[in-house]
Amino acid sequence: MSEMNKKAKYIFVTGGVVSSLGKGIAASSIGLLLQKRGIKVGIMKFDPYLNVDPGTMNPFQHGEVFVTDDGSETDLDIGHYERFLNQSLSKHNNITTGQVYNTIISRERRGDYLGATVQVIPHVTEEIKERIRRLENSEDHPEVIIAEIGGTVGDIESLPFLEAIRQLAQERGPANTLFIHVTLVPYISTAGEFKTKPTQHSVRELREIGIQPNILLCRSEEPISEELRQKISLFCSVPTSSVITAEDVPSIYEVPMNFRRQKLDDIICEHFGWEIPEPDLAEWEEMVSRINNPEHHLKIAVCGKYVTLKDAYKSIIEAFVHAGVESNAAVELVWVSSEEIKKEGARKFLKDVDGLLIPGGFGERGVEGKIEAIRYVRENNIPFFGICLGMQCAVIEYARNICGLTDAHSFEFYRDLKHPVIHLMADQEGVTELGGTMRLGAYPCILEENTKVQKSYGTDEISERHRHRYEVNNAYRDMLAEKGMLLSGISPDKRLVEIIELPDHAWFVGVQFHPELKSRPTAPHPLFRDFVAAALEYQLKNIDTEDTVAKRTLRFTKSTE
Ligand code: GLN
Repeated sequence: MSEMNKKAKYIFVTGGVVSSLGKGIAASSIGLLLQKRGIKVGIMKFDPYLNVDPGTMNPFQHGEVFVTDDGSETDLDIGHYERFLNQSLSKHNNITTGQVYNTIISRERRGDYLGATVQVIPHVTEEIKERIRRLENSEDHPEVIIAEIGGTVGDIESLPFLEAIRQLAQERGPANTLFIHVTLVPYISTAGEFKTKPTQHSVRELREIGIQPNILLCRSEEPISEELRQKISLFCSVPTSSVITAEDVPSIYEVPMNFRRQKLDDIICEHFGWEIPEPDLAEWEEMVSRINNPEHHLKIAVCGKYVTLKDAYKSIIEAFVHAGVESNAAVELVWVSSEEIKKEGARKFLKDVDGLLIPGGFGERGVEGKIEAIRYVRENNIPFFGICLGMQCAVIEYARNICGLTDAHSFEFYRDLKHPVIHLMADQEGVTELGGTMRLGAYPCILEENTKVQKSYGTDEISERHRHRYEVNNAYRDMLAEKGMLLSGISPDKRLVEIIELPDHAWFVGVQFHPELKSRPTAPHPLFRDFVAAALEYQLKNIDTEDTVAKRTLRFTKSTE
């Protein structure tokens, strides 16, 4: 592709009718297909809300906060981009209205606008365009920029973004830009029909602001017929071949293959005048085929506060899918509320599972239930994986029940503690602002020789992503170690415990960082991989006649958006 002109092509992905249509998966899938054809892909998301980043938002509202290597707190779609494109992203890949306005207002206060009236057009739109150009001119020199506009066409908040991409398309010309609109074609069961009217309306709304989509991705429960695609084509002025049916599929990783079958990538290449080889999807297809044909079924309990909202644990769910591929196992996640455990005891919820994962979290609610759950799996030799708050709870549990400090707790929850085995990190003292002030992003960690984690990673030094304010209190390190807890990963300056494990347990590992953020479908995270392998080993050892694997009811946790 070296003879291609310097400027990148632009693909803008918008959404119509309703939110949660899977625009992020669609954008990622298009990115993957182009990448597999040899194109250098840059991908970004615009979020129209006024928050500077999602870091301070309630996970119940916003879902997971995805942390990048550079410590940015981003939208969960950035996680999909990273997983599909097997590429680590940064703050340049997720832009919010809050960030755009922050920049403009500081500039205005400095007097940089030289007395001009500062307005949405041109100042806000210019700043949005600048953010796209910044990614375009980044070191990687992408040949195509895929920019997803969050929200739904018709929202007041997303108008400046749509206006900015309209202007960019005007500047670059139609041969260098492509608009892809993701829309909903609902099935109305009483009429027994798919309905195209919402799609027509949302395309009309786009046209009113000067955008004519080139391609429509029609989300529906089932594939939509040729006849219906022709109808949509007629009403929306999009060729029938570019009306793509994007029906629900069992795994999000099948979406690229569905698009490929309909030649979506060929349409894009033709539009941009790219004569390039077909994509090589062999490895990807092999991965999907293994997801769809598991030999084993595992049950892993996930015990946290937000169990009713799966989006809060998106990367964890995906990391289990990836790890399952390695063990040829479908991992069914059993969501257990920590508050229920506190009320009814751990045994009821954990006696039939093959492993327990306690994810990250904030706040005291449910912590006692988590500690009880950890005690149960520790005493019953059931594989355990603790992430961030999950690891901190494991340390509290150990301090209480093995070291005899019955009132051990975390300084996060109670200030006046006799044994704050988890306490505030030194550099967090005096921090008063909540946004972007945690210990965030990638930090190195040194692994102890001959530990489970060192064997997992197969190396002595790792880099993982963090998002926390509290840490293992160094005053208790010796006591924990004397009582058998191995502090198997430590920061290079030796001040911070990053990993703990129990050497005499089937698999008991706690990490202060978030390994789920770095797991990729074709490269599962080593700790998830080995945790799942340990859960499988546990299951194979513990099958009893009453409760065979075959008899276990399998409720797949579908990895859909
Ligand atoms: N609340 C804990 C802390 O800030 C854990 C954070 C997390 O689990 N991400 O240290």
